[in-house]
Amino acid sequence: MVHVVLARKYRPRLWKEVIEQTAAVQSLQNAIKSHRVGSAYVFFGPRGVGKTTIARILARAINCENPSGAEPCDVCPSCQNILAGTAMDIIEIDAATHRGIDNVRQLRENVKFRPMQGKKKVYIIDEVHMLTQESFNALLKTLEEPPDHVLFVLATTEFQKIPETILSRCQVFTFRKVALDTIQRYMARLLDQEKILYEENALFWVARRGDGSVRDSLSFLEQAVAFCGGKVSEEKVRELVGAISSDLHLQILRALLLADSTSDDLIAPVHELYNSGSDLNRFIWDFLDFMRVAVYVQRGVTGPAFLGIPGNEIARIKEEIAGIDPALLLFLFDQLYGLLDRVYALRPRNSYETRVLLEMELLHLREKCQRPSISGILQKLKKMGEDLSRSEAGSAAPARESRVSRATRSRDGEGAAGSLRTESVSQVKPSEELPREVELQKSFLGTFVDPAQIPDLDKAE
Ligand SMILES: [Zn+2]
Repeated sequence: MVHVVLARKYRPRLWKEVIEQTAAVQSLQNAIKSHRVGSAYVFFGPRGVGKTTIARILARAINCENPSGAEPCDVCPSCQNILAGTAMDIIEIDAATHRGIDNVRQLRENVKFRPMQGKKKVYIIDEVHMLTQESFNALLKTLEEPPDHVLFVLATTEFQKIPETILSRCQVFTFRKVALDTIQRYMARLLDQEKILYEENALFWVARRGDGSVRDSLSFLEQAVAFCGGKVSEEKVRELVGAISSDLHLQILRALLLADSTSDDLIAPVHELYNSGSDLNRFIWDFLDFMRVAVYVQRGVTGPAFLGIPGNEIARIKEEIAGIDPALLLFLFDQLYGLLDRVYALRPRNSYETRVLLEMELLHLREKCQRPSISGILQKLKKMGEDLSRSEAGSAAPARESRVSRATRSRDGEGAAGSLRTESVSQVKPSEELPREVELQKSFLGTFVDPAQIPDLDKAE
């Protein structure tokens, strides 16, 4: 039996099989039912989201001998011929390779003749933006006075390159990228039909790689099925995509922040990546992306499609970073961004050079993260203030207004290991955060403070 690739085998033949692109699908179906199909359409959208597929369904629907509503019957000779690609009246042109004036002149000559078999001749011009100016002018003449028996579908990924004069004679439909979870569900259905085993998260990574394109996703799925053998597993697909596990990122994050971590804890993962032949430049970018996820997760954003990682990993990250100061995460993001910038500027000649740079930068970053921060010092001040007002309240009533604002959990000032949160030291309104403190925190986060120089505030009373 001949193997047909998934993208071709499952290419929609009927309107009801199309996923997404609701606006175009509904409008075109209504136009067919009410016999108001236009003479020229522009389908604009990214690649692999169904422009040509929908153009073909439209061609079949208007040429079908026994349509049911807007849906082609799928069995009449016209439907079958179009499906097999042997219909004389459906002309598909790739404008990328037929962009010259001669091609369009020939097209204009052909347009005059009535369809040979069906009701209408349908010209599907792919990548229409590739036509030369001269060709567009020639095409325009046809669009100005199109014969009744002709329908044009101009497909493009670059809308802005199509002249206004052409657009004003067409109905324009915008096709969108398909949502990640929609593609994921769609692939799950196909694999069920194909009786191929899979892990849910494996399909997440396939869909992410497809980046909103159904065609690209299915092509990659094809590759994944071949690579995985029996079952499409998450582990194998990640290997294929080159997606590093969040576990590794968390491991490095812990090594950066925890006071009891060693340099080895930090550098071992880098060695591992280097020895396994991973692209370290890509790793820096991935870690930056992970920090973006961490920053969002901490702010309560948990959508897998938005964050670009599966739900179970998001839950794990959420748990792991719960106690970390949001400001510290942003600080780390900035530092890693700077590192990426330096790596791009230096353009290391090989991965060994990147490794040297990465190791030293990470060690340096760890040192910065573990220094006492302004947050820690402010926390001590707050505690002192609390103790003070408590003792005053105990000795002399009525109690004076608290010098310190809301009490929150915080780290103890020595390293970023524990949890820490922004505090407000206020003398006026206890519940109001002072911008001054935020300013201080921004200015001093990561600034070296010699622990020996910090007075022991607990004993300062
Ligand atoms: Zn039919």
